Amino acid sequence: MPSFVIAEKCDGCKGGEKTACMYICPNDLMVLDPNEMKAYNQEPDACWECFSCIKICPNQAIGVRGYSDFVPMGSDLVPMMGTEDIMWTCKFRNGNVKRFKFPIRTTPEGSSNAYADLKGDDLDSELLATETGKTLVAPIEAPVWKQ
Ligand code: SF4
Ligand code: SF4
Repeated sequence: MPSFVIAEKCDGCKGGEKTACMYICPNDLMVLDPNEMKAYNQEPDACWECFSCIKICPNQAIGVRGYSDFVPMGSDLVPMMGTEDIMWTCKFRNGNVKRFKFPIRTTPEGSSNAYADLKGDDLDSELLATETGKTLVAPIEAPVWKQ
């Protein structure tokens, strides 16, 4: 399900040198048409379907089309990112629209600070944080380091 740019919504990230989708794509697939100032996926067959460009686009101008084997009725999917969750708008070919909202974090925004957690440690040490004798407590709910 490679990504595609919805041309009417794309503003070329307002003419920036490197657009958000170009910056984030791990496979360098997104390019900007300098005449139209619209981005496009230059090689959909090579798309990893990581959805990074879709999520980062500030204008919700990138979508993904569900393959018929995966989404029998076909659909366009467009996400809206929030600080706490992501909302996917799923528009089926018969016109039905469904929205799905999922949480994207388990801790308050800004509460994770790896540097503060490692303060007092020898940051030049070649040991990984997990090799310094510290143990990770409650790794799923709220990762905190315990001495
Ligand atoms: Fe267009 Fe969105 Fe890409 Fe910016 S991130 S160039 S608005 S598709
Ligand atoms: Fe690149 Fe991922 Fe977007 Fe595909 S879905 S164009 S691999 S960022």
